[in-house]
Amino acid sequence: MSDTIIGIDLGTTNSEVAVVHEGRVEVLEIETGTRLLPSVVGLDDAGMLLVGQPAKNQAALYPERTVRSVKRRMGSDETIALGDQHYSPQEISALILRRLKTVAEAWLGKTVMRAVITVPAYFSDAQRQATREAGEIAGLDVARIINEPTAAALAYEAGAEQSRQLLVYDLGGGTFDVSVVAMEAGVVEVRASHGNNHLGGDDFDTLIIEHLLAHLQQEHGVDARQSTAAIARLQRAAENAKIALSDRPYANIEEEYLLEKDGRPVNLSLELARSDYEAMIESYVEETLEAMHTALSDAGLTSSDLDEVLLVGGATRTPIIAQRLEAELGLAPRGDIDPDLCVAAGAASQAAVIAGAPARTVLVDITPYTFGTSAIAELNGQFHSYCFVPIIRKNTPIPVTKSEVFYTAYDGQETVDVEVYQGEDPDALNNTQIGKFRIEGLRDAPAGNPVIMTCALDLDGILSVTAREKDTGLEKSIRIDRAVAGIEPQGIDDARQRIGRLLEGETIPDGDIGASADQPTGKQAADARALIDKAERLMENANAEDREDLVDGVEQINEALTAGDAAAVQPALEQLSDLIYFLEA
Ligand code: AMP
Repeated sequence: MSDTIIGIDLGTTNSEVAVVHEGRVEVLEIETGTRLLPSVVGLDDAGMLLVGQPAKNQAALYPERTVRSVKRRMGSDETIALGDQHYSPQEISALILRRLKTVAEAWLGKTVMRAVITVPAYFSDAQRQATREAGEIAGLDVARIINEPTAAALAYEAGAEQSRQLLVYDLGGGTFDVSVVAMEAGVVEVRASHGNNHLGGDDFDTLIIEHLLAHLQQEHGVDARQSTAAIARLQRAAENAKIALSDRPYANIEEEYLLEKDGRPVNLSLELARSDYEAMIESYVEETLEAMHTALSDAGLTSSDLDEVLLVGGATRTPIIAQRLEAELGLAPRGDIDPDLCVAAGAASQAAVIAGAPARTVLVDITPYTFGTSAIAELNGQFHSYCFVPIIRKNTPIPVTKSEVFYTAYDGQETVDVEVYQGEDPDALNNTQIGKFRIEGLRDAPAGNPVIMTCALDLDGILSVTAREKDTGLEKSIRIDRAVAGIEPQGIDDARQRIGRLLEGETIPDGDIGASADQPTGKQAADARALIDKAERLMENANAEDREDLVDGVEQINEALTAGDAAAVQPALEQLSDLIYFLEA
């Protein structure tokens, strides 16, 4: 067998490594539950090297011994101080690459010598050369440097026969670029690329932090900028809120004992609505759309020439981005391959071609249908009582939970009828109604009382729908067992069989390729992740005691998974699931 060549996405914020194994693309777990390695390097108190999450954790508190975003400095002559030494950007990048190489070696159970590494399309020759050198320093022969949009296109379209024009919209933590990629007879080419390498999801965090600082000043008369520790906590809280708002209409930001004022604790407690957040980031989103039009016209194309729009980069999970792209281009963007992972997946596909063992297209578990509800709105210029409001959109990776807020229509409205539809038509009546329920006993309030509707779709095709009155917590749910009944169960099973571990996650012990019978299965790991997600959501509104129980439950599962102990995973899963059931009842 030829040597495995690994695919690496060496990102500004996060990096990933992928391999093709038995014809399937696998983006490897860095540690249980995550495939993202934060591109951060640091030294701890004792001067020991930290790479990845531990380095990111200390970045805000100890910026002097932490290096972030080294990718921005690649190709320059700058040196970077770390402890009492100075390093080149290549050397710092090599530490990240070396970590990824080790992850791949542990997973494959053999030494890895070669890699395909991706770079932005706008990288100059000097920046590409520096990336190559970083690989060599890390002990990797760089078989090829490929453009990130090319890799994303390969992840989606490896082996496409017909010619295709793709637009790749990539919004990461600190950089944005949009590229037009043409695929023809197996040749993939970037036709035009445009962007801003100082714009990304981290800027969205900054806007939220400013909002929090203004709130603290106004409500408590404190300037939190004076405390590095408080800023570090606000940074984390802002990113968490931003991520929560991708799935829900509101996020609660609670930071107890953030600061002291006159010997008293200052607690931060604030709700942020998605609509307010979207207004905050509006000008950034607008800027990205302008760049997109520039890239299209540089490539000599119009939106009608495009076959696909692909989303890359964690920040593209912000729903307003897909919505605005669809409105501008008349084409729904695809984000069905995890936007954080598809560049590494494409790099691994390319690596496999070079090694002589091409991969099949990357497959993931996605919902084939859109699910949503109906509301009164305008349709074709007239008010219609049954306009379809999508909540979980077609091609979203599952399991998934999404919510949206709706408002009562008249004063004193006590009941809301919730109708659940599956389909794509803007008129809900042309879609299939798959469930219906009524929530009763809403508080006596003027029109505009918010009711949050949540849809959760699991890997078994079970859709749970909940309506909750925001102000009182009053709620009602239904469970629809065969929400994806349109594809026969066997089809789902077959699909699942074919699907790589790209999103599912399997705990693989060091140096051992296959999981043995007493190892946790990928299904357990996926269940664990779904359950932990749910627990974390519940934590936000739980009282201190319940929160502690939830934290304990999550820790037990994580410990069992980390130890690779299947016998301990199952009871831990059951215990947390009982607790969640109890708390939700
Ligand atoms: P990347 O550089 O592609 O890894 O993207 C990292 C950026 O994506 C960071 O700013 C993250 O906070 C952001 N991000 C990750 N997940 C989400 C999410 N669900 N919604 C919005 N932004 C996200």
